[in-house]
Amino acid sequence: MMGLRDYPPAAQIHRPDCPGISQGTLPELTTAEIARSHPNAVMHNCYHFHQNTAGVVEPVVYPPHDYKPSTNKPADARRPLCATCRGTHGDQQVEGAGLLLPTRGQRILLPGESSGGIPGGGLILPGNR
Ligand SMILES: [Zn+2]
Ligand SMILES: [Zn+2]
Repeated sequence: MMGLRDYPPAAQIHRPDCPGISQGTLPELTTAEIARSHPNAVMHNCYHFHQNTAGVVEPVVYPPHDYKPSTNKPADARRPLCATCRGTHGDQQVEGAGLLLPTRGQRILLPGESSGGIPGGGLILPGNR
């Protein structure tokens, strides 16, 4: 696969106190951890990477659908993300932080950081336009 990887269907990120989730049932992660482990996650309207230092990751179950390419193609993705689930519909849709570690030179800008000095700039996240 030479550095390209499949993305799993995107999870949704909430603020820990979001009324739309069941409190206490999902682990709270720092935004930095979420950025590393869920690079294609979708932000709920309660949460923004630039405004929240922590969030919770809600797994999203998508109805069966065919792969339909979107215009969103991360540099390390095997092909453009699916317009429906933001995954790549690969054979290895395995959850896990190890699989989803961003490659060097691609990182998300955290609150308070600037893109100065980072080769290639920051990774643009879904919803972060
Ligand atoms: Zn929410
Ligand atoms: Zn899909």
